[in-house]
Amino acid sequence: MMEKERLRTSIIPIFIPHIGCPYRCVFCNQWRITGHEGVPDASEVSNLIDTYTRGVEKRHWEAAFYGGSFTAIPGSLQESLLEPAYEALQEGRIDAIRCSTRPDCITGPILERLQRYGMTTVELGVQSMDDVVLERARRGHTAAQVKDATALLRQYGFTVGHQLMPGLPGEDWQSLIRTTDAICRLKPDIARIYPVVVIAGTELADSWQNGEYQALTIHEGVQRAAYMKQQFLSKGIQVIRTGLQATENLDDPAQVLAGAYTPAMGEMVDTRRYQLQLFRVLDQILSACPGQTCVISYNRRDTSRVRGIRNVTVHRSRLRYGREFLWKEDDAVPLYHIQVKTDGGTWLIDTDRGRCSIIEIND
Ligand code: SF4
Repeated sequence: MMEKERLRTSIIPIFIPHIGCPYRCVFCNQWRITGHEGVPDASEVSNLIDTYTRGVEKRHWEAAFYGGSFTAIPGSLQESLLEPAYEALQEGRIDAIRCSTRPDCITGPILERLQRYGMTTVELGVQSMDDVVLERARRGHTAAQVKDATALLRQYGFTVGHQLMPGLPGEDWQSLIRTTDAICRLKPDIARIYPVVVIAGTELADSWQNGEYQALTIHEGVQRAAYMKQQFLSKGIQVIRTGLQATENLDDPAQVLAGAYTPAMGEMVDTRRYQLQLFRVLDQILSACPGQTCVISYNRRDTSRVRGIRNVTVHRSRLRYGREFLWKEDDAVPLYHIQVKTDGGTWLIDTDRGRCSIIEIND
């Protein structure tokens, strides 16, 4: 499910596992991640769209070709897969078509074909903007190709998505920060952040097993993804997913060997982002006037992000400040904001922008 209420889109995933991939990236095993094998044919695409949409109330449906390198597969196969989706688009049964692909498989003629079939969004598997990390992941493309592909997609008017993978071999915090800055400069419309998970049957699994690769812990994955997400949001880049979508395969410990996999990754990342911002503001306010009454208010739809997953932020605030706060739902507080009110004044934290403004100061 999309993490932001503001972007309500229902995806019809059409998996094309590893189809078109010229290389096998060290971390990737789409058969296990998606739980699908083989390539669908046109009639399967058509049936899938019907199965999702028939008899269901109107939503914003998007047919999405995921799990492979869509623009790298032969043109005739792309067209036969796109045909039924385009038909559904023209008949108003779906609202958009998107795909994910590699940055080195984007050219003018390729984009013209996608446009002829009504595609409007292309998500690039970027993973990192550090050429050393890309090389070690055997991606087979460079950061410069990400820049070129992003520019060409913009020129053709596509909505551009970037998929990032914090925690790849060779990435340290400095590399992660450089990647994050580079993505912020490119400013894709949307981003997905997938902290690295070690999946059985990959080269990364071998490196992890023989001790060459140190997998991320869940905590490290949350830290890295929260940093990226906060920077992206502050630059107006929508983050539509954090962490791999839970599937039966991924919940099987024989498939996921190590790394930052938890179905709660999205909630944990938001808990961290909100908590860091709230505590930064409370540190300042309470150091000036420690004994004051303090009310923390938030929109009802922000409750779990503000209080934290399993109320962790409420518990930590007790330990950190040695006192109780009043936690209050208040729909007058805008979504994605936290209001802090004390006897001395009122502050409003804009959690997307990472900014706090003073609303009122009492004498
Ligand atoms: S990450 Fe993308 S390009 Fe690499 S093997 Fe997987 S699907 Fe193919």
